Amino acid sequence: MKKTFVLSVAVLFGFVMLLGAAPAQVQAKTTFVTIGTGGITGVYYPTGGAIAKMVNKKRKEYGIRATVESTGGSVFNINAVMAGDLEFGIAQSDRQYQATKGLADWKDKGPQKDLRAVFSIHAETVDLIAAVDANINSIQDLKGKRVNIGNVGSGYRQNAIDALTANGLDYKKDFHTESLKAAEAPGMIQDGRIDAAFYTVGHPSGYYKEATAGKRKVKFIPITNVDSLLKKYPYYAKAVTLVTKFYPGAANTEDVPTFGVKATLVTSAKVPDKVVYAIVKEVFENFDTFKKLHPAYTGLTKQSMLEGLSAPFHPGALKYYKEVGLK
Ligand code: GLU
Repeated sequence: MKKTFVLSVAVLFGFVMLLGAAPAQVQAKTTFVTIGTGGITGVYYPTGGAIAKMVNKKRKEYGIRATVESTGGSVFNINAVMAGDLEFGIAQSDRQYQATKGLADWKDKGPQKDLRAVFSIHAETVDLIAAVDANINSIQDLKGKRVNIGNVGSGYRQNAIDALTANGLDYKKDFHTESLKAAEAPGMIQDGRIDAAFYTVGHPSGYYKEATAGKRKVKFIPITNVDSLLKKYPYYAKAVTLVTKFYPGAANTEDVPTFGVKATLVTSAKVPDKVVYAIVKEVFENFDTFKKLHPAYTGLTKQSMLEGLSAPFHPGALKYYKEVGLK
């Protein structure tokens, strides 16, 4: 009896040891990295998935396991990468610029010295949609309406504020402002709880498909006074949203002029070179496969993915670009 007891304790002890030891051994071999993205109906979320897919294919070779997290967007991602809560984040090029220089959301915190660029990805346009029955045909018509300018933590909130300011509107007093996450806005328009919404995203996106597929007719509103924005901010470029091609459910019969930025992948100087190198290498060596993972990547070239970045390149990324002559 006593013997059996001793034996089972020994077996149990051994089992506990085994349990305790096993995860430590696996972790020593595998580096887990998380990529912060955006709302699930945006393009950042599938983009994070596409990048993770490329590197996870070679899990045995690199010992890297990448996962994706849906987040509040660019500003959240940059801050989480700086805090060490995320290893990578997708962020608008204008937000990367501001964080690097200590502007806008980083005015109080100052320049984010450890922020590093990996590569840029698809183009994003700043768009405003409105319900047709709300009689909004220009930014000016937003006066007195219910408008989503985006959550704090998103990249697009500042784009909305800039577009409004360029047109003489103040979101604090000219209309009823909502600060909703992107994923909530299309449903709120369809339910009649808001009249209009801004969003900055690549195309096609689930967000605009959802917003234009419901019973309530929705249209894209042209963004005016873009020239004054271009003069003031170096990171904005003129753009056209291909509404007729991507969102046949929208009430527009023509494409809509606006301005835009680029989506970029950022990391921290503290993330090891070999991790960043592996991710860049897998995306660039399998470029054609990567490009097929989302229609927003159609126009991408390897060279274009090194443009639109303002933080210094991470040394792991630079190593690869130098090896293949891209830098
Ligand atoms: N550009 C948006 C932002 O940073 C996110 C777009 C997306 O998720 O595709 O707020």
